[in-house]
Amino acid sequence: MTGGASGIGKAMAAELVERGAEVMLADRDAELAEATATALGDRARAVEVNVTDAAAMKSVVDDTVARSGRLDFFFNNAGIGFGGDVSRIDLDAWNRVVDVNLRGVAHGVFAAYPRMVEQGFGHIVNTASVAGLVPTPMMVSYGTAKHAVVGLSTSLRLEAEQHGVRVSALCPGVIRTPILTGGKYGGMVDEIPEAKRIAAWERTRPMDPADFARRAIDAVARNEPLIVLPSWYRLVWWLQRISPALGMSLARRMYLDMRRTIERG
Ligand code: NAD
Repeated sequence: MTGGASGIGKAMAAELVERGAEVMLADRDAELAEATATALGDRARAVEVNVTDAAAMKSVVDDTVARSGRLDFFFNNAGIGFGGDVSRIDLDAWNRVVDVNLRGVAHGVFAAYPRMVEQGFGHIVNTASVAGLVPTPMMVSYGTAKHAVVGLSTSLRLEAEQHGVRVSALCPGVIRTPILTGGKYGGMVDEIPEAKRIAAWERTRPMDPADFARRAIDAVARNEPLIVLPSWYRLVWWLQRISPALGMSLARRMYLDMRRTIERG
């Protein structure tokens, strides 16, 4: 489980342990990953890894397979956000988001998929986002990477099924985790007080991570290709597909609302 120290990854790891699995929490934040693994008990372990390092990702998978003899699931879940209009963010911030959220997922696939093909089973679960299904102004690099993760997942799914391997993409809507206020490795251009940011997200009725994890793991067990949760976001996605113009118009309204909130300070 990459990004297993916090938020959605931590909650999915807890759900998997609850269901009898052994989990490896692979996270850049070694201290937090260790604390999370300790809290989850004997069936959880932690390892420090930066998903942008392809060789390190491969070592984590190789070591895990050497210890456990198999790899049932690989959750490509680590992610960061960086908010702000493209006119104001710099290329470094853009690249960081793409490196973690897209290249990080590819590194996970290249580390885990050959193993799964070899064993003839396994399930890769990539955390994309509803931002991978609809336009997300103010999070353009994030939306770019997440759309790509959806494309990677649906395309690889068709190849993988020939080898007995499953691939799914998770598309969370808004889930109450540290990423909503920037997370440890993300950020935003505009300085908005944390309380105000939390209040803005609370208006979107965020889902609790444990609740998300329970439903997401159920959907993974059903081998659903695209898992959109909370389920009312399926309506947003459906609207975008049946009328892209209406979807664009809704996204534009939300964007302009957000800009006004930021400009009011
Ligand atoms: P979070 O900040 O709580 O957790 C992200 C985890 O990823 C952290 O433990 C962090 O240390 C780790 N991480 C960040 N960069 C890393 C790197 N380079 N290498 C290894 N680990 C790294 O946020 P979260 O909400 O739990 O995010 C998990 C995933 O869910 C992300 O991919 C995110 O984009 C996605 N997502 C979240 C939401 C939401 O509303 N919370 C919505 C849609 C998608």
